[in-house]
Amino acid sequence: DAVIEGHDVVKEYRTGDQVVRALKGIDFGIASGESVAVVGPSGSGKSTLLNLLGLLDVPTSGSVTLYGEETAEFSEAERTQKRKEVIGFVFQSFFLIPTLTARENVEMPRLLDRTPKRTRERATELLERVGLGDRLDHYPDELSGGQKQRVAVARSLINDPALVLADEPTGNLDRKTGDQILDLFDELREMEDVAVVTVTHDDYVADAADRVVRLIDGTLREES
Ligand code: ADP
Ligand code: ADP
Repeated sequence: DAVIEGHDVVKEYRTGDQVVRALKGIDFGIASGESVAVVGPSGSGKSTLLNLLGLLDVPTSGSVTLYGEETAEFSEAERTQKRKEVIGFVFQSFFLIPTLTARENVEMPRLLDRTPKRTRERATELLERVGLGDRLDHYPDELSGGQKQRVAVARSLINDPALVLADEPTGNLDRKTGDQILDLFDELREMEDVAVVTVTHDDYVADAADRVVRLIDGTLREES
């Protein structure tokens, strides 16, 4: 029951007559509900892989499938739609909108939907679940770093994704707060059966994952 799989995935970037081969024929699979840490030095292809997993880009060759469907065959509109349905994003720098409250930030990805009442209920429920039931109407600058990341985690879940992609989610947090965010991911994986893929430089974040994959110069190695 893979959410997303890659086979012999190559990604090249062309700038002028220069070609950079960022991924050199890698295989991967993300099963529903598992947690995977992606580690590796700067320039090894982590963001490139994250962009493929996030349906923000397609491979130059090879296959990336979402529930068995070839992502390169989706139109741009279909890819955007699938991304919205299946994938949530969490970033190192939170990316909350400062003029919106915690609840409004969580509602953001569904702002254009026709069920605002249902969205509001779900946003409230998610904020309660991440421990911010008493901070619904606070603005981001009234929240600590850990609380901001909790809002971002709640926002990533508003469309009931199968996969959350977290890019250095603890990078701006101290160790204790970072641990709390990792615990939160674990709870959510159990409750919502969501797979979490985390790109990280932090050993303790990688240690907390079910599985660690290491990228080295565009090749991928399974570590545990
Ligand atoms: P990481 O996230 O591990 O730092 P990246 O996936 O960002 O690695 O980059 C992998 C390789 O691809 C690097 O050599 C990088 O310079 C190159 N690269 C990444 N994005 C682009 C791009 N848009 N255009 C050209 N080269 C790129
Ligand atoms: P970096 O890899 O340099 O740390 P970011 O973490 O800001 O970059 O973003 C990672 C990738 O996610 C980028 O390719 C970016 O374009 C994309 N991205 C940023 N914001 C969003 C968003 N709200 N929804 C979908 N993709 C996003």
